[in-house]
Amino acid sequence: MNLQHRLSGKRVVMTAAGQGIGRACAERMAAEGATVIATDINPDLMADLNAVGGIEARVLNVLDGAAVTALAQDLGAVDVLFNCAGIVHSGDILNTSEDEWDFAFELNAKAQFRMIKAFLPAMLAGGGGSIINMSSVAGPITGPASRLAYSASKAAVAGMTRAIATDYVTQGIRCNSICPGTINSPSLHQRLRETGDYDSALIEFIGRQPMARIGEPEEVAALVAYLASDESNFTTGQEHIIDGGWTA
Ligand code: NAD
Repeated sequence: MNLQHRLSGKRVVMTAAGQGIGRACAERMAAEGATVIATDINPDLMADLNAVGGIEARVLNVLDGAAVTALAQDLGAVDVLFNCAGIVHSGDILNTSEDEWDFAFELNAKAQFRMIKAFLPAMLAGGGGSIINMSSVAGPITGPASRLAYSASKAAVAGMTRAIATDYVTQGIRCNSICPGTINSPSLHQRLRETGDYDSALIEFIGRQPMARIGEPEEVAALVAYLASDESNFTTGQEHIIDGGWTA
């Protein structure tokens, strides 16, 4: 299989393409021949993305329902929808406010619901497609400390994914979630800095990894490209764990 052509002819729309896992996924899918409409809330992070062959960068705040609807109407049918946007909230139940809980669910779960609702009708009319939702091992697979709202919202993603997979399996729609462990992204480094002791926090994160390293965004991108491609045509409704054996 020539990976340079695996996604040829496919039109992808995705969120949070500005940095980290999302950017690596946009670049990987474009490298495999897809046309990628790569969106992010932050235009500065996408300033150089239009120069990448196969990528069209657009500003989109996934919390803005009108903007999501407008984008879906503008783009029409896509073959792949990758919902990547999300944020990590720290805290256990006693130090998580209702506002933090609500925001975690708004961004990590409801925004995916909104994107799918907006894009699914044209995908169905176009004969089907692959929906990939960013979850995490935190929530559906394991319960790391101090990740109450994050884990709950990422578990919701896994549940929503299975429901959509079942409801549309006969209409050509596949819907899978991906569950990364700890991945080397800008937000990870921000979380490490926020602990007040970056080096110790990094050692602690690596310490729970049987491979003695955290994952790279490009490794997650390889999984996303597979789920976007027809090579995964018999796969739907599953949580795809990519965590270096952390939860094995
Ligand atoms: P990151 O946090 O470094 O970047 C997030 C991107 O999302 C940024 O480009 C930001 O501008 C964009 N964004 C934020 N709010 C947005 C909004 N309202 N609308 C559109 N875009 C918005 O990225 P990351 O660490 O690579 O994480 C990406 C996704 O992967 C998240 O859903 C995260 O929960 C998930 N994830 C990350 C890890 C990890 O260890 N890094 C592990 C498991 C899951």
